[in-house]
Amino acid sequence: QAGLAPVDQALVDGVLGRQRRALAKAITLIESTRRDHQQRAQQVLGALMPHTGRATRIGISGVPGAGKSTFIEALGTWLIERGHRLAVLAVDPSSSVSGGSILGDKTRMETLCQREEAFIRPSPSAGSLGGVAEKTREAMLLCEAAGFDVIIVETVGVGQSETAVAGMVDMFCLLQLPNAGDDLQAIKKGIVEIADMVVINKADIDPRAAQVVQAQWKNALHFLRHASPHWAPPVLTLSALHKEGIADFWAQVEGYREALTPTGEFEAKRRHQAQAWMWNLIDSGLRQYFRHHPAVQADLPGLIAQVEAGRTTPTAAAYRLLGHLQTVSADCADP
Ligand code: GDP
Repeated sequence: QAGLAPVDQALVDGVLGRQRRALAKAITLIESTRRDHQQRAQQVLGALMPHTGRATRIGISGVPGAGKSTFIEALGTWLIERGHRLAVLAVDPSSSVSGGSILGDKTRMETLCQREEAFIRPSPSAGSLGGVAEKTREAMLLCEAAGFDVIIVETVGVGQSETAVAGMVDMFCLLQLPNAGDDLQAIKKGIVEIADMVVINKADIDPRAAQVVQAQWKNALHFLRHASPHWAPPVLTLSALHKEGIADFWAQVEGYREALTPTGEFEAKRRHQAQAWMWNLIDSGLRQYFRHHPAVQADLPGLIAQVEAGRTTPTAAAYRLLGHLQTVSADCADP
């Protein structure tokens, strides 16, 4: 890699050599808000890109207490016993909003933490949800380059974080409690549409109740069209605590990949995700550029007041503000 500074080349080599310390350092570089760090991070990522894309990417969402860490610990141990290496990342919007964390505390997944074949990283805490998700997506690529063949991205069942995670994984799974009525909430939130699998955990507590909830979910999903005509999201019951149903879960993950790969949908989904990601960054970059533009800043307060008072239409105000950008694009075209 011509142009890569020796320290960054060492980082690249370390990640490819599956050194945990190098991987952790590379992720820290990506999470840094310093501009020079961000530039270095992009170069490191660029050098590693050819080594990414080979993992199975799974999103797991559920409300606090649904059993996510218990489940990931059980699944992870099961996978390691079968020769896999897994990385667990988290997208936790609460860690940036309040400084508190729903997901990232150190006591979770204690067994998995000690395994050489597992890499667990709490949610980045800097910035907006978009920023947190962006850094998690890039951390995922680093983990793939470091040879982890299963990536689990965990998030809480609140707000927009589920959409963000669904946009970076191959298969998005909802972990549900066996409480009747919860399903309606998920449907109202529009989350069901992006679910590729629904898992009802804690089936050991009351197996019959779990079956009732499973039937409700199947019924609800029956009326929704999945993004792929070749996949009907399954509804499983399991017990993370008793490690029951883990093999069934993994069979569905493999079945999903087998169903969508021959039709090209599996790769198409990744391509669309990458492109959507780029446009998201462009959108937010443009928005930021717009807001910091001197002419916009000068004009904005007055126009907002006029719009609020009903003296100017939102459309006219928007066009006028956007017009300030045209002078700049003319500058760019004519250096
Ligand atoms: P998270 O907040 O979604 O990560 O949930 P945790 O994994 O921390 O689990 C919350 C609580 O539920 C813990 O006390 C777990 O022991 C318990 N739990 C998790 N899975 C099961 C299960 O399958 N059966 C039962 N009975 N309890 C469970």
